[in-house]
Amino acid sequence: MRVVVLGAGIIGVSTAWHLLERGHDVVLVDRQADAALETSFGNAAQISVSYCEPWANREAPLKAFKWLFDPEGPLKFRPQLDPGQWLWGLKFLAQCNDAAFERNVAQLVALGQYSHTALKDIVASTGIHYHRVTRGIAHYYTQQRSFDDAGHAAEVMHRHGVNRRVISREELLRIEPALQAFAHRIVGGTYTESDESGDCRVFTQALARQCVQRGMQAWMGHDVERLNTAGGAMQSVRLRERSTGHTRTVHADAYVVACGSYTTALLKQVGVSVPIYPGKGYSATLRLLKPEAAPVVSMIDDALKIAISRLGDQLRVAGTIELGGFDLTLDTPLARTRSAMLVRRIEEVFPGVADTRLPEQGGDPQFWCGLRPATPTNIPLIGRTAVGKLWVNAGHGTLGWTHGAGSGKALAELISGQQPAMAFQCQGDVAHRGGWMPRVSSAT
Ligand SMILES: Cc1cc2nc3c(=O)[nH]c(=O)nc-3n(C[C@H](O)[C@H](O)[C@H](O)COP(=O)(O)OP(=O)(O)OC[C@H]3O[C@@H](n4cnc5c(N)ncnc54)[C@H](O)[C@@H]3O)c2cc1C
Repeated sequence: MRVVVLGAGIIGVSTAWHLLERGHDVVLVDRQADAALETSFGNAAQISVSYCEPWANREAPLKAFKWLFDPEGPLKFRPQLDPGQWLWGLKFLAQCNDAAFERNVAQLVALGQYSHTALKDIVASTGIHYHRVTRGIAHYYTQQRSFDDAGHAAEVMHRHGVNRRVISREELLRIEPALQAFAHRIVGGTYTESDESGDCRVFTQALARQCVQRGMQAWMGHDVERLNTAGGAMQSVRLRERSTGHTRTVHADAYVVACGSYTTALLKQVGVSVPIYPGKGYSATLRLLKPEAAPVVSMIDDALKIAISRLGDQLRVAGTIELGGFDLTLDTPLARTRSAMLVRRIEEVFPGVADTRLPEQGGDPQFWCGLRPATPTNIPLIGRTAVGKLWVNAGHGTLGWTHGAGSGKALAELISGQQPAMAFQCQGDVAHRGGWMPRVSSAT
């Protein structure tokens, strides 16, 4: 079968890889010059099966309201004149209860475990190096009240088969001695040994290259302009080459949309409605001054909800979510405040370890922002749409790197007529059409 995969982030590239593994001809299309140059570029690098709590929980509405007025608040809603944003917000609110939370966690953990195995398989068969660190993920808590609740979070993960342990400050320091200078502020932690970290961009670009070596056509630098249908099924896709302006029409037996936050607009062209909205996040990648004193274990700072990962001789810190459209600027006052907050926290927790000077102070932090393709449940959409030959693999929100390998494998299995070995509940109309992720609907 000839399959066109639209979007070369971690999700599209992983889908392409698994389609090749099953003997299909694959064409991968992206508007950028290489794979992983948008959201998969500078994320927090965590393969985090243990920390997959959806944003939507009982306490989220109150916290989000409080953070409206805090430029450094982890979650920020910036109201737009966009009905799509408000509709998404209402669907999100509908998920803010214990029953939905439990249901969503169950699916996220199932996909996380399936995906972790798929990632290890790819690494074993390709030998790709991407600053992988298999030393687990630790959470440190600086607020007693939050640490008291950590037991509950760990228990939820235990119920789903993930061994996230509550640990004392002393054990945390044995696991990651680099926290010593900040130890007086830490009240305790949690630790999941089976989690890991690594550079999503490096992995995705290397995997894309291996796909090309296996015969995949990669049409980079092409905008996907139009999905063409006839009689309720896909006919072709119209692309425009960015450098020349030339258009070309591509025909295939199956089409996969894996365009992250831009999936919503593309699918809307053919009457398919998906609840994916961009959640802007920031990262800073810092040069290490004292590599021997820097953390190796990937971490979550619970108070600020930021993640820290070691990537060779650099330290990546990332976090915060802004629901306010497709803006990707880094030079607004809000963006500057949020970026500076990430770097300031690194200096506070690991003093003198990395170059945390801002550019105006002569430093060279690599600031970046990206749009998480967020669904109200945090659960991605993987499966067939109501339009014939049209499939979707998008909406991975905060966990696209964690869920990337498995999402690609699952969709490739479905396209190949196989049933993925995953304990997913069937929900929504995508279920009877050959997928099992919820709520892909069609107006046609
Ligand atoms: C600050 C931050 C930290 C994060 N940390 C983590 C983490 O630690 N662990 C984790 O698991 N996840 C993390 N994530 C989430 C993760 O990065 C995303 O879920 C993931 O990258 C989404 O991948 P994707 O392939 O769906 O989207 P993308 O990487 O954005 O890929 C979509 C591709 O589609 C292309 N495209 C879109 N529209 C068109 C068009 N019209 N024509 C042609 N091409 C098009 C784009 O160029 C892009 O390459 C983080 C995200 C952010 C922002």
